[in-house]
Amino acid sequence: MLFLRFKQNIVYVMLLGSFLAVRCQTQSPNSMNAEKINKTDAEWKKELTPEQYRILREKGTEKPFTGEYTSTFKKGKYVCAACGYELFTSDMKFKSDCGWPSFDAETGTGSRIIKKRDTSFGMIRTEIMCARCGGHLGHIFDDGPTPTGLRYCVNSLSIKFIPD
Ligand SMILES: [Zn+2]
Repeated sequence: MLFLRFKQNIVYVMLLGSFLAVRCQTQSPNSMNAEKINKTDAEWKKELTPEQYRILREKGTEKPFTGEYTSTFKKGKYVCAACGYELFTSDMKFKSDCGWPSFDAETGTGSRIIKKRDTSFGMIRTEIMCARCGGHLGHIFDDGPTPTGLRYCVNSLSIKFIPD
């Protein structure tokens, strides 16, 4: 009887152990900050305009000086146009001559935007993507004119402005 109780306890401890192991695996630093959104191409096509789909999902670029937010300097925040994740605030936006909305920092501690080396079109650049849905935002450069030295060059169609 005592032996049986011991065996039951062992099974219980083993079950608890595997439960904790699974929980540890699912709580990686990224998923703690952002619940990942994984949608099929067909689902994104339904939700986004054709031009947004081309930029956000196919890593396209809108023509310079044509975007809605290039010269917007109202107070508010900018969220991902595809999933609504907060990425920038108006305080981070600066006037840039490059023709796209430009920011010198991002909301949070750097986990909201994925940075990835991009060697397309014969250039070495760093692509920036929304960490929650993987949507293409633009590129980041280290030639910014403000103290951070950073220039997040973002397509207007990749973001949505929410006024304060
Ligand atoms: Zn997103």
